[in-house]
Parts: sequence; structure tokens; C-alpha cells
Amino acid sequence: MSNAAWLDRTRAAVWHPCTQMKHLEAVPPLPVARGEGPWLIDHDGRRYLDAISSWWVNLFGHAHPAINAAITDQLGKIEHVILAGCTHGPVVELSERLGQLTGLGHAFYGSDGASATEIALKMSFHYWRNRGRPEKTGFVSLRNGYHGETLGALSVTDVALFKDTYAPLLRQSHQVPTPDARRAAPGQSAEAVALEAAQALEAYLAEHAETTAALILEPLVQGAAGMAMYHPVYLARARALCDRYQVHLIDDEIAMGFGRTGTLFACEQAHIRPDFMCLSKGLTGGYLALSAVLTTDEVYAAFLDDDTARGFLHSHSYTGNPLACRAALAVLDLFESEDVLARNAARAARLTARLAELARHPRVRHFRHLGMIWAFDVAEAPTDFARDFHQGALAQGLFIRPMGASVYFMPPYVIEDPEMDLMADVTGRLLDRL
Ligand SMILES: *Cc1c(COP(=O)(O)O)cnc(C)c1O
Repeated sequence: MSNAAWLDRTRAAVWHPCTQMKHLEAVPPLPVARGEGPWLIDHDGRRYLDAISSWWVNLFGHAHPAINAAITDQLGKIEHVILAGCTHGPVVELSERLGQLTGLGHAFYGSDGASATEIALKMSFHYWRNRGRPEKTGFVSLRNGYHGETLGALSVTDVALFKDTYAPLLRQSHQVPTPDARRAAPGQSAEAVALEAAQALEAYLAEHAETTAALILEPLVQGAAGMAMYHPVYLARARALCDRYQVHLIDDEIAMGFGRTGTLFACEQAHIRPDFMCLSKGLTGGYLALSAVLTTDEVYAAFLDDDTARGFLHSHSYTGNPLACRAALAVLDLFESEDVLARNAARAARLTARLAELARHPRVRHFRHLGMIWAFDVAEAPTDFARDFHQGALAQGLFIRPMGASVYFMPPYVIEDPEMDLMADVTGRLLDRL
């Protein structure tokens, strides 16, 4: 069947995410027939570079032989089983390995990122309640932060376009200033911006810690804010303040975990250990919906009791799905056997060099890079810039989705020089045409 036929059927039957369906006529989705490494291939055989890793989930490209083999092997054993009252090898092994990698134990599983946020918020609140502090019900998060779109997660998210409509349904939470380095005054360093933001956090906690359960934040990069990057000193200060004021630190590594920022987990760059870590997206290499919340022995211990209600009575049908856990184990194997972080550092240096010219383009502002993420803002971006840029790039074989006036590359960890050239060349040409 052709691209056009699939487009007709998708318009009639599918409600696409994060999409005004009325715009689907003008901006049709890409009908993907298959994937191969960093490439998406449509029904007419045309290839597109997946420069945003399929919404930040893909790590090692599409149809990776090792991940495919792990899932296929698991399919012949047990595809799924309830995790209340049962356990299985893949979930045990994954929990052990995530514990070793993070220094946090007892992984609790959900199906996607938003469910991990919900779990962490509920666990934090319930911890304080079990410890005799039921008044600690509040959450504080960063301005422009993003933690998912179910009602609880949206309550601590601060993206107006996603949040404002549903405001009457949401629980109040408080937002403190973001350490986003783009806020620097002329001559001010990223570190100074971060320290200033940390002072604002301190002022808030000094007044409200008694009623605050947790601070939730995206470490080093606020993805949905347009890949806003900030100095790691903010994380170090946030950790110290949370300790001082007895507030949990929830580290939402859903987008930034698994090597995206250059270290396996972003919080490592500030040498801190959070009270909760949320993982999803790259956890399965972008294969299957799985999320995990890891926490400290101290939090875990607060739930152990003869009283059932003091336990964490939360569940999702697909909690700890064996196929997803096997995909995640295959991902961890790849990190070990292929020295991914070191090879990414070399890969990133090549792409950064390749983008040097783009960084000097007269329309480019705040060119920034961390690990396997590159981003910049477009000065005087026309209305519909994101949409037009997306379509212009697609016509030249590049799949990319700017957020407002922020263009970013977040490619799978398998791109090589020709793909880097494509990203740089197509983007440069489109900027020239503005
Ligand atoms: C994507 C994302 C989420 C939500 O994950 P979903 O799987 O889309 O529900 C939460 N937090 C961060 C930082 C994210 O990037």
C-alpha cells in the first residue's frame, strides 16, 4: 500500500498525539514502513534520518539485531505475567543491574514516563505520611519543566501550551526559577545563573519545607523547554538544600538517562544521588513502553509494616513486562560491551566540529551542546517556523521537529559522518532560506 493510502486511513482512524488534527491535512504524518539503524523508511522506499530518536526514546537505532534477538528469545518463554504475586528472571536481573548502576534499589515499574512521575510523587508523599509528617503534601518544580501529561505529572509540569487548558483539574504546585543558562545577563556565566536559581530555591524551601514533600526536576537539560541546558552546580545545590530542609529530590532522568548527557545518568555530573530516580524512554532502547522508579533503602524501609495500607499499593497491568525488561537488559549489555559512552564522546566531538559553521549562522542564537544533544534558537523565527522547518527538512530526508524557535538534534548513538553531514547541510540550507 502507498504512502497516500496509509495517510487517508490514519486521518480516518487515528487520533495522533500532541497534534491539532485539523492541521493533519497541511502537515501529514510520515507513513513509516520500517526502520534501519538511524533511518526511517516510508512506503515508497524513501529514507529519512531520525534526528530526534523517535521522540527521544531510541538509543541504538531501529531494528537493532541484539535487542531484536533478546525480545524474540523472551517471546518463546513468557511474554507477560502479573508482577503482584509472581516474579520472573528479566525483572529481577534488570532491578539488580539498575540498582548497581544508580546506587538506588528496589525498582518499581510503570509503563511510561508519566506513570513513573506519578509513582515518584505518590511514593514521596506516602513516605512522609508513614514517617508521621502527613502535612508534607506539596511539590516544587522548575519553571518550564516537563514531567509528563497525566494529571499528577501535569501538575508539576510547567509548559503553558500543555497545561493551561487543564488548569482547573490540576493540583497546585510551586515553580521556582529555572537555571536555564540562556537567562544569563551579558557577561554572566552559566554557573552564576545556576547559583542565582539555587538561591531562589533556598528562599522557597526556607519558607515552605514543612509542607513540601519533594522537588522534582529534569537534570542538566530541560527537554520540552527547548533543550534548555544548565550548569551542574544547580543539581549539587539542590541536593544540599533538599538535605538541609528535609525535602526529597526526584531526579527525572526519563529523557536524559542512558548516556544522553554524556554520562550514563545526568546526575553523575553533579556527583549526587537523588532520593528517587525516574527512568523510561531510552530504558528499552526505544522498543517497548517501560518505566522504573528507583529509590533509597531509607524510603523503602518506611513502607515495610504489618499494616497493608502502609505499603505502596500502586500498580499498572503491564508492570515489569518481561519483553520490555529483556529489551532493557539488552540495552545495558550494549553499554557494557560496546563502550558506548566513550564512543559517543568521539562521535559528539565530530558532530560538534561539523556544526561549527551552523553555530555562527546569523540567525542562530544560544548554540548549545551536551553529550548527544545539540540545540539552538532561531532569531526572528517566522510564525509557523517549527512546522515549516519540519516539512522543509523532511523533503530533504531529515526527520526533525523544532520546539517553537528551538531546533535540536538528538540522534541515535549510531550516526556516522554521512548522517552528520546531512543534519548540518539540510539545517544550514533551511536557515539560509529564512
Ligand atoms: C517524556 C518525558 C516524560 C513523560 O514520559 P511519557 O513516556 O511521554 O509519559 C516525563 N519526564 C520527562 C523529563 C520527559 O522527557
